[in-house]
Amino acid sequence: MRICVIGTGYVGLVTAACLAEVGHYVIGLDVDQDKLNKLTEGVMPIHEPGLDAIVLRNMKSGHLTFTPSYADAMAETGVVFLAVGTPPEEDGSADLSYVLAAARSAATHVRRDCILVTKSTVPVGTGEKIEAVVTEALSGRNDAPKVTVASNPEFLREGQAVDDFLKPNRIIVGIANPTDAEVFRRLYAPFNRNRDRLVIVDRKSAEITKYAANAMLATRISFMNELATFCDATGGDVEAVRKGMGSDPRIGPHFLYAGVGYGGSCFPKDVQALIASGEKHGVNMQLIEAVHEINQMQRQRFVKAILTALEGIEEPRVALWGLAFKPETDDMREAPSRDVIDALLARGARIRAHDPVAMDVCKGLWPNEEHLEFMESLDACTPDADALVMMTEWLCFREPDWNAVESSMRGRLLFDGRNVYDPTTLKARGWQYHGIGRNGIA
Ligand code: NAD
Repeated sequence: MRICVIGTGYVGLVTAACLAEVGHYVIGLDVDQDKLNKLTEGVMPIHEPGLDAIVLRNMKSGHLTFTPSYADAMAETGVVFLAVGTPPEEDGSADLSYVLAAARSAATHVRRDCILVTKSTVPVGTGEKIEAVVTEALSGRNDAPKVTVASNPEFLREGQAVDDFLKPNRIIVGIANPTDAEVFRRLYAPFNRNRDRLVIVDRKSAEITKYAANAMLATRISFMNELATFCDATGGDVEAVRKGMGSDPRIGPHFLYAGVGYGGSCFPKDVQALIASGEKHGVNMQLIEAVHEINQMQRQRFVKAILTALEGIEEPRVALWGLAFKPETDDMREAPSRDVIDALLARGARIRAHDPVAMDVCKGLWPNEEHLEFMESLDACTPDADALVMMTEWLCFREPDWNAVESSMRGRLLFDGRNVYDPTTLKARGWQYHGIGRNGIA
C-alpha cells in the first residue's frame, strides 16, 4: 500500500519505518527540514534501539522516502497517518493545532480517496474536528476525493518502540465508516499472522482507550509512590511489598515500581489532558487528578530529600547518573532529572552527569551552564562528589564498582531514585542511603 506518515518524530518515524519494513511504500513528511536532512543522510534524529537499521534498509530499497512537500506526499497516498505532537496547553488540555494544521494541509493536497488516520494522542471528539477541517479544505473542489477520518492510537514504548510496533499486543482502530475496516485489515495483515490483534471499535472509544491506558499505568505508578511514602513512615520496604502484591495474578507485576515519579512525553501530558477533557465534559476526574498530584509531590519529595541532606555543605558537588526519563531513550521531555538539576543549580551545587545517550539533548537544555558538566563515563562523575544521585535505571548503572566510587568521592550520600541498589549492603559500607519507600531498612 502507499502510505504517508505526517510527522517523523518518535511515533511517526517508527511507524513509517516499520510499515516500510513489511513491504508498504511509505513517505515520511515533516516540516522540520533539519530532521529531514539528517534522515536523508542516514542519521537518526532520535535514539531508538534497532530503528537505524530498519530506516536505512528501507531507504535503500525505496520503500521509505522523506519529503517536506505535502503535494509530493499526497499524490498517490491512500492512507495518511497523522503523527504530529499534541503538547499540553497552559490548562493541561491537548494542543490540537499541529494535528489540525497537518490535516488541513493533507486535505488541501489530497489527489485520491484516502483515510486520514490519527496516530497522535488526541482527546475524544477530535475525529469530528478533523472531519470539519477536511470538509472545509475540500469545499469548492470539483474533483474532491473522498476522505474519511479514523483513529489508530499508538501504544509503543520509547526504548522498545520498534519491537512494540512490529509485535503489537493489540492494534486499536476506531472507525466511523465501516468500509474502512477492510483497509486496516490489509494494512496490518503482516503484523497479524500469528493471531488477530486488530480491535475495531467506534472512533470515540479508540480515542478514549489511549488515555485510559496511559492513565491506568500512571495510576499504578502513583499508587506505588504513595505506598512508598507510607513504607518510609512505617519502616516497611516498598520493594518487598511490590513483590508480594505483584505476584497476585489479579494485580500482576508490571508498572508497580516506586520511583522519582513518572515523566516522559506521554504520561504527564496525557493525564493532564484527560483531566482537562473531563472538565470540558462536566466530569470530575477525581482519581486521575490525585494521580497527577501524587506524581508532582513525588518528584518534589525526592528533590527536597537531596537538598535537605546537602544542607550545610558549601558548593556541594553532586554526581548524577542518568538523565533520560527512562533507559534506552534520549527523550528528556518531563524527565524527573530536570527537576533535580534545576534545584541543585539553584542551590549552587556543581553537577557532573552521565547518561549513555541523552547528553547531547541535555547540552541544548542547559547551554553555557558552567556548574553542569556532562561526563563520558560514570567514573568521571564521582571524583570529590558529596552525593551520588541515580535517576535512570540504565543497565550499565546497576552494578557499579563501589570500591572505586567510594575512593573517588568525598561524601557518602546516595540517592537511589529507582531503588536499584541494596540498602542493607550499602549502609553496611557506610553510605547514607536514600531510596524510595525503603528508608526504614536497617
Ligand atoms: P515528536 O515531537 O517527536 O514528533 C512530532 C513531529 O511532527 C515533529 O518532527 C514535528 O516537526 C512534526 N510536525 C509538527 N507539525 C507538523 C506539520 N504540520 N506537518 C508535518 N510535520 C509536523 O512527537 P512524538 O513523541 O512522536 O508524539 C507524536 C504523537 O504521538 C503525540 O500525540 C504523542 O502523544 C503520541 N504518542 C507518543 C508516544 C511516544 O512514546 N513518544 C507514544 C504513543 C503516542
